[in-house]
Amino acid sequence: MKIHEYQGKEILRQFGVPTPRGVACFSVDEAVAAAEVLGGGLWVVKAQIHAGGRGKGGGVKVARSLDEVRQAAGQILGMHLVTHQTGADGQVVRRLLVEEGAQIAREFYLGMVVDRDSQRVALLASSEGGMEVEEVAKNTPEKIHTLRIDPVLGLIDTDAADVARLIGIPEDSIAGAVVVLQGLYRAFVEKEAMLAEINPLVLTADGRVIALDAKFNFDSNALFRHPEITTYRDLDEEDPAEIEASKFDLSYISLDGDIACLVNGAGLAMATMDIIKLYGGNPANFLDVGGGATREKVTEAFKLMLKNPNLKAILVNIFGGIMKCDVIAEGIVAAVREVHLSVPLVVRLEGTNVDLGKKILADSGLPIISGADMADAAQKVVAAARGA
Ligand code: ADP
Ligand code: MG
Repeated sequence: MKIHEYQGKEILRQFGVPTPRGVACFSVDEAVAAAEVLGGGLWVVKAQIHAGGRGKGGGVKVARSLDEVRQAAGQILGMHLVTHQTGADGQVVRRLLVEEGAQIAREFYLGMVVDRDSQRVALLASSEGGMEVEEVAKNTPEKIHTLRIDPVLGLIDTDAADVARLIGIPEDSIAGAVVVLQGLYRAFVEKEAMLAEINPLVLTADGRVIALDAKFNFDSNALFRHPEITTYRDLDEEDPAEIEASKFDLSYISLDGDIACLVNGAGLAMATMDIIKLYGGNPANFLDVGGGATREKVTEAFKLMLKNPNLKAILVNIFGGIMKCDVIAEGIVAAVREVHLSVPLVVRLEGTNVDLGKKILADSGLPIISGADMADAAQKVVAAARGA
């Protein structure tokens, strides 16, 4: 689960990481009032969306007067902010962070991820922070330093100080950098994050080390242990189809193709998307109805797929292992009768009671195209989507 920058900074502050003072706002008037309360003569007005690259997209503006705060907030609120992480349509900005402007001397990069190979949290740090870190990773990867943290020892003082020196934090500010590094690590572990990023981490003109940006992704499977994180969820930032799917315990991810697929099992779902691609089609979604696909679940899955305006055809690919094919076939027939099926439907069944399952589909009188195997089904659905 992703959260906003201002929420990430709340977490960082709880773990002793210094950040600029700031206020989350939902209107232009709130933004001006917030700037007034913060005081000083330099503010930064920042779009809050679940995507990075906001600065480049025009979602971060510096203001030197309350009038400029009003102007910046007016420009950013409601804009379709397009960044390299949003896709071409961008994301509508509904929240702002107004914070005090920092006097930046240097910008660094800090990140933490779960490194599966070493089974540790990997700390990534670079002297080249700011808005171009993707370029650094691509062109000069040697400028990114990695430390795999021992889970028993944690991030010890000397290791943290070494990393700070490696990226060029001056000696007088090393202690401050250690506080940030250790705070980020404790936040990462205690809140069960999968990714955390401070980019940029800055050295201010007066030698302080502070977090100017904050990004966190949390492990959804661990959220039941962290109700305080769950309250940060912002449904406006999530795909409506994916929210709907989660209510019915369906694993659903929207994609930009036109062939919907309904599959049981994540591995088979991946293979199904691959084979659609192989035959020149484009999957509209990933959808795993799970091992115990009931008639209700299949019906909800059909409703979800049919809401997609780009939809041209549906491929159902089911392996009847625990679930028998005849039960699945009855579920499909019932679901198709309940929803108004506006596109061709190809079904491929395999496994226990497959003959009975196929008979149920054939006897239903519904216009269901039967696929003999995965390749046959994929070719048929690609052809159907093309209107052949
Ligand atoms: P994004 O990563 O989405 O582009 P950031 O929060 O990193 O957004 O902001 C982009 C840039 O704006 C930063 O690299 C930094 O140079 C500048 N910036 C952000 N917040 C502040 C602040 N409080 N004071 C001064 N400059 C800031
Ligand atoms: Mg940033």
